[in-house]
Amino acid sequence: MTLTVPPMAHDRLVALDRAHVWHPYAPMPGRTDPVVVESASGVRLHLAQPLEGVSELIDGMSSWWAAVHGYRHPVLDAAVHEQVGRMSHVMFGGITHEPAVRLATKLVEITPEPLRHVFLSDSGSVSVEVAVKMCLQYWRSLGRPEKRRLLTWRGGYHGDTFQTMAVCDPDGGMHSAWTGLLPDQVFADRPPAGFDAGVDEVYAGHLADLVERHADELAAVIVEPVVQGTGGMRFHAPGYLKVLREVADANNVLLIFDEVATGFGRTGELFAADHAGVAPDVMCLGKSLTGGYLSMAATLCTSRIADGISRGELPVLAHGPTFMGNPLASAVANASIELLMRNDWRLQVRRIEAALATGLRPAVAFPGVVDVRTLGAIGVVQLDRDVDVMAASRAAMRKGVWLRPFRDMVYTMPPFIADDQDVARIVDGVLAAVTAA
Ligand code: PLP
Repeated sequence: MTLTVPPMAHDRLVALDRAHVWHPYAPMPGRTDPVVVESASGVRLHLAQPLEGVSELIDGMSSWWAAVHGYRHPVLDAAVHEQVGRMSHVMFGGITHEPAVRLATKLVEITPEPLRHVFLSDSGSVSVEVAVKMCLQYWRSLGRPEKRRLLTWRGGYHGDTFQTMAVCDPDGGMHSAWTGLLPDQVFADRPPAGFDAGVDEVYAGHLADLVERHADELAAVIVEPVVQGTGGMRFHAPGYLKVLREVADANNVLLIFDEVATGFGRTGELFAADHAGVAPDVMCLGKSLTGGYLSMAATLCTSRIADGISRGELPVLAHGPTFMGNPLASAVANASIELLMRNDWRLQVRRIEAALATGLRPAVAFPGVVDVRTLGAIGVVQLDRDVDVMAASRAAMRKGVWLRPFRDMVYTMPPFIADDQDVARIVDGVLAAVTAA
């Protein structure tokens, strides 16, 4: 038996959405009409109703860093169908299954060497919560419960739950409204801008000094390596990761890399940590882990951390989401990683990087533009003012491109499968958005 649901009239759908459905960082009821997407395939979103004269949009956002292989990819679709035919979900307490075991083993294989143990959860924010819990519990187990603060640098973003908000940028971040309610963490200055800028010794000294001064109360340093994403799309020199590794080791502090956005090739290396050849004690992955098909994240840690926790008074990691290790998500994640390797992601990303660098360069001369930067399959145009999001995204739509500018930036991170023509269209969309912003 199949259930047939009659399609909803467009206007009714939009009205019900505005009345009942909360969207990210949005008011309730909604004040603007959302774009209704009916289906998606390849790099394109197909609209339920034409907008700005177009009925499909090239997705310049990869659904927020996630859809690296685009939509309706036959390999990923097949992985989901095949898994649905076996089971969609089963509890993970006391039970295991091949998709999750395969995935964890694969993640251990492709991430930096000492990461050996994998905790699968349902979202990037939760993976960071788990990372923090691992580090806090590690020190508790070793009889050092006072080591429970975190150090990070300003300008970061790690999620929307309370522990993660506490390490987002305390001023510019979207969570400044909660200051006073969040755990009080230690903040270093923003890392100096520029992937190629090299290590500024004064800033390195500042990091070292801060870690040293707070070492007795610090459980871990947590950063987004190389690219600070939602906090401002800023790039920094990979050399700072080495500095952090050295000062963390010297001061008996753990190191967490949040690679939820940067993982799986986006910055030009499989993991951003690989730019520096540095391994963290804990690594968070999410977003493109499943090729953007299903919500899943992973927290990896070293045996030192797992052993430490296991020796404690509470010898287990006290965390267990209902949908932990979800078989459907695991199956599609396995397929996505395999596809990444088979497609030669490095070549895909290099091609996009070159096209974005050349295509976006003219924006430097546009009025109000203060910076244009690209790294891997990421392109950013920064303005001297907050962007008029509606005007900018409508201008991109008229070029057939979906963008979601924020704060003072118009930016893109295309799906890796975007071909030269797609990237050229995305570039046109970004330039049009900047002009209209
Ligand atoms: N960490 C980083 C670096 C992110 O960019 C994000 C999301 O943008 C998160 C964590 C939170 O992930 P999620 O939105 O899946 O909870």
